[in-house]
Amino acid sequence: MFVKLLKIGYSSKLLKVMTDMYSKASSSVKWKGYLSKSFKDIMGVTQEGITSPFLFKSFLADLGEHLSDECGIILCESIVKHLLWADDLFLVSPSATLMQTQLNNLKDYCSKWHLVVNALKTKILVFGVKDPGKFKFTFGNNAIETSGSYTYLGNLIRDSRNPFTKIDEVILHKCYKACYKIRDYVDAVGQLIPSHAVHFFNVLIAPLLDYGSEVWYSEGTAEKLEVFQKKYFKRNLSVRINTPDEAVFGELGVLPVSVRLKKNLLKFMHRLNTLPNSSLVKWAYSELVTLHELGYDTWYSKASKVMSEFVSIAGLDDGCFLKLNSSSVKAKLDRIFLTEYSKKWLNNINNSDICKKLRTYKLFKSEFKFEKYLDIPSKSVRAAISRFRMSSHHLPIELGRHHKQIIPAEKRLCKKCQVVGNEIHHLLECKITQSIREVLLKAASKYIVNFRSLSKVNQFSEIMSCKEREFLLCLGNFLIEADHLIKDPVGHTP
Ligand SMILES: [Zn+2]
Repeated sequence: MFVKLLKIGYSSKLLKVMTDMYSKASSSVKWKGYLSKSFKDIMGVTQEGITSPFLFKSFLADLGEHLSDECGIILCESIVKHLLWADDLFLVSPSATLMQTQLNNLKDYCSKWHLVVNALKTKILVFGVKDPGKFKFTFGNNAIETSGSYTYLGNLIRDSRNPFTKIDEVILHKCYKACYKIRDYVDAVGQLIPSHAVHFFNVLIAPLLDYGSEVWYSEGTAEKLEVFQKKYFKRNLSVRINTPDEAVFGELGVLPVSVRLKKNLLKFMHRLNTLPNSSLVKWAYSELVTLHELGYDTWYSKASKVMSEFVSIAGLDDGCFLKLNSSSVKAKLDRIFLTEYSKKWLNNINNSDICKKLRTYKLFKSEFKFEKYLDIPSKSVRAAISRFRMSSHHLPIELGRHHKQIIPAEKRLCKKCQVVGNEIHHLLECKITQSIREVLLKAASKYIVNFRSLSKVNQFSEIMSCKEREFLLCLGNFLIEADHLIKDPVGHTP
């Protein structure tokens, strides 16, 4: 290493300090609480040494010179032979024969500089052939296994036409693990209120969902990941799995994963455009643009589709977006995606063809933002309000939907009153809940101006929109008690 450092121009004084430092380096092994005697460290850079990454990089800087240009692949007008991230090395070749030659070159380099390659952890990935097993590769005397997939920098790459096929399974596995971990911690201290669930999602789970998404992005994968996100929040809100997604996102004021991934993709695309032309990533990007223009379906095809959607919403043109100032891109993307999703969300909840179940929800919900009642500490009160607001309940209007033969909405009657058993009836009219209603109405009169003179629909809408904590508690308790009365009307008759 010091020979190489001297060759690339390190001063002799600095090298003297470093050789002195390395001559005194020693290591010990800690295992099951035992510490071995220290021994001299004569190979490699010091563990966790502040200069170690830089020295290692300098040491391997000449690797490219020992690899053959003929064995590399052409990217734009340059030849790429390898990618190196710390000690993670990736060789690329257009054919099996050239790859074997490159492996031999690497072996020579390693022998010369006393480097060791772990043959067991080294894998060959062959793209574009039906039977990759027919190729045999060796590194020195060791056979190298041909694999159908390889994890590079945490991303699983497969040898299929789409190298990111089934990446959702890998990501979801990590997300479920994170969820179980969160649950373990939370169960030990109490319960996860929705605002904390949103926070945990943003800081612990979203980074797992986002990781590498700029590269593997596809609408299909985004949809699969979004299913996980919906389950996570529905479980936290204690509502049924078939509760409309719009209501869940609306109650929490949380954007769907698909929107988040589109933002990441556009941020990355903007960054690629700002990279210098000498950057390897920029070469790959330019190659993808060229292939897209030639009619191939590439990463750029997907990214440009998302960009076209975005610029049409934002009233920009493609060029304008790519020229935006880097510091303002994130804020612009955040603002425009939020505004656009909020508009679409409002349109959906008001469109009975899209959200049939939300015929009542639209009467009181019009803002895409976190609801205050979700901060009530009592889980049962919170859940009762959530279920009632989002039609995740057992009132006749919902039960009729789940009959073998769906009962028309106007015939889903309350058994006691023989009128349509919907949320308004349950809250303000039903004879079953009459005995407990006065407490709720008194509280409503206290917090809602002219409450008693309003029409039933307006009374309902005002009750569901009221944000006063005391009133929300009263509403939650009414709903819990009313639920018992409906399930067991006889047992609760005063
Ligand atoms: Zn009734």
